[in-house]
Amino acid sequence: MRPEVSLKQFVPSLVCLKCDGCCRYKQADSIWRPKLGQNDQKNLGTFEDYVQSVQVCGQHFCRFLNTTDNTCGVYNKRPFECLLYPFILSQRTDTIQVYVHLSCPFVQDHQPKEEFKAYVEYLKDFFSRQDIREFLIKNKAMFHDYTPFAPELLHLFDFSYE
Ligand code: SF4
Repeated sequence: MRPEVSLKQFVPSLVCLKCDGCCRYKQADSIWRPKLGQNDQKNLGTFEDYVQSVQVCGQHFCRFLNTTDNTCGVYNKRPFECLLYPFILSQRTDTIQVYVHLSCPFVQDHQPKEEFKAYVEYLKDFFSRQDIREFLIKNKAMFHDYTPFAPELLHLFDFSYE
């Protein structure tokens, strides 16, 4: 089953498939593992709060990552955090902060360009939609507080869904 929402992707799939940055973690309990909302849990058939990692040769990987070709084993029903990445929602209070993760090489190359600005405008429209607000309210469990990682994030805009 496809998640309730679809989102235009900023980073082309072919770029992601050639990059070994995502879906890998420094620790088994890394905050960068996808945190799951109700919708994600339903789609993945799990009650886990986070996608679990597996350790191979001392490295930690998302359990759904195929490390031979970089593909995602649950691509069509991947968690919302994965769908949104390299953009990130962070919540500590009622306000949600939207950031972009500067560790993404595609972001580093494209952040000064018009296509990046256009995508940010697209995201502003996306998060102002009533159906998306309702989706976020139902899936609050997926929110992290990413503010401790502010040095590697660029703040884009804030919104409130309630
Ligand atoms: S679910 Fe898929 S896209 Fe998300 S971290 Fe795992 S392998 Fe990567």
